[in-house]
Amino acid sequence: MSDCIFCRIAAKEIPSKVVYEDDVIFAFDDIRPQAPVHTLIIPKAHIASLNDMPDDRTDVIGHIFAKAPEIAAAKGIKATGYRLVLNTGPDSGQDVFHVHFHILGGRKMHWPPG
Ligand code: AMP
Ligand code: ZN
Repeated sequence: MSDCIFCRIAAKEIPSKVVYEDDVIFAFDDIRPQAPVHTLIIPKAHIASLNDMPDDRTDVIGHIFAKAPEIAAAKGIKATGYRLVLNTGPDSGQDVFHVHFHILGGRKMHWPPG
């Protein structure tokens, strides 16, 4: 059993509110939402951070971007707008070391982020 929480969520060993799943990626609602819609998209393969992304797995990033509008649509925010965020490393606030994109929406976003 993996000790990575997001690997365990993707394997459904830990329950989550699943939004989208295919062979490569898994999307589920964030447990501490920072906006009315806050969903996380992860690769099913364990990759700790963007800094650890193998050159031969960059297709995963393309796949996440390709599916993000569909996931936003499933959450009802495709037309109103959304933000896709990838935290990498200590200064970014990355807490979970399994690559994940945040999809945030359902309210007006501010810039710059804190
Ligand atoms: P980050 O700070 O970019 O590493 O974001 C990690 C995110 O994972 C945070 O927004 C957490 O609220 C979220 N999170 C942590 N544990 C869980 C969980 N079991 N289910 C859903 N989201 C989680
Ligand atoms: Zn993992």
